[in-house]
Amino acid sequence: MSGGFELTFCGVRGSFPVPGQDTRRFGGNTSSLLLEAAGVPLVLDAGTGIIRAGRQLAARGARPIHVFLSHLHSDHIMGLPFFAPLFDPRQEVVLHYPEDGGRRSRRALEALFVPPYSPITLQGIRARLRFAPLRAAAGRVALDDGVEVAYARHDSHPCLGVLLYRVACQGRSLVYATDVESPHVFDARTRAFVAGADLLVHDSQYFENDYVGAPRAASGKSGRWPKGARRGFGHSTMTMAARNAAACGVGRLYLFHYDPRYSDAMLEEMVQLARREFPRTYLAREGKSVHIRR
Ligand SMILES: [Zn+2]
Ligand SMILES: [Zn+2]
Repeated sequence: MSGGFELTFCGVRGSFPVPGQDTRRFGGNTSSLLLEAAGVPLVLDAGTGIIRAGRQLAARGARPIHVFLSHLHSDHIMGLPFFAPLFDPRQEVVLHYPEDGGRRSRRALEALFVPPYSPITLQGIRARLRFAPLRAAAGRVALDDGVEVAYARHDSHPCLGVLLYRVACQGRSLVYATDVESPHVFDARTRAFVAGADLLVHDSQYFENDYVGAPRAASGKSGRWPKGARRGFGHSTMTMAARNAAACGVGRLYLFHYDPRYSDAMLEEMVQLARREFPRTYLAREGKSVHIRR
C-alpha cells in the first residue's frame, strides 16, 4: 500500500455473534476493525472480529500493534483472549481503553485471561502487552510515522459512555463512532470532532420502527422483528447515522454494529433507506477492505 489508510471490517455486528445462513453475506462477528495507517497496524475494538484481524497481523510481522477500545461491553472485548499476536513473543501489543479512575477497566480486561473465564492466565500472554488507559474525556495519542488517534467521550451509551476515535494520517482521516444514540444530530462538540472526515463508521443498530416500537409489515427473509421501543438503549438508527454524516460533512458513511436479529436482506433494505438522507452510504461487511488514499 502506498500511503493513506487501508481499513478492513473484521466484525460488524452489535450485541452478540450471529453465525448462520441469514448473516453469511455481511457477517456475524461482533465489532472489530483492522486499520493500517502508513504501515502502523491499529485495531478498533476487540469483538469476535478481532480473531480474524489477529490472523492477518500474525502474518505481517513485528511492528507494535495498537488496539483501541471504545468501551468494555462484552461485544467489544470478547475476542481479545483469542487475538493471536498476544501469544507471539515477537509481538508488542498496546491496549488503549477508557479508564474512569482507579484500575477498574484494567482489572476487567485482565479477568478475560484468568480462571474461571479462561485457562490462559496472564503469564500465558507471550507478547509484550502494555496497558495504556485513556482517563481524560478527550485527548490524542501520537503513534509512529505521523499517525495520530484523537478520542472524545460520548455519553449516550449506558454504563460509562463510549470513546469516539478519529485516526488521522497523511492528511486523511477516519472516525469510528459506535454505540452512540443520536436522536438529534450530534452536538456541536461532537460535530467538530467528526467534521470533514473522509470516512465515518457509525452505529446503525436499528430501523426507525424498531427504535420507536412502531408495528411494521415484516419484510426481508426472516421476518423476525424485535418488539418494543429501543429508545435509551444507546444505539442509533440508519437515519440518525446518515443525518450525522451529512451534518458533519464526511466523505463516506459506513453503517455498522447491526442488530443481531437483522438478516442480510434486511441490511440491504437499511442502506437504501439511509441513502435518502446521505447518498454516499454503504454497509460495513465482514472481510471488506476500503482504501483511503493519500
Ligand atoms: Zn456494542
Ligand atoms: Zn455497548
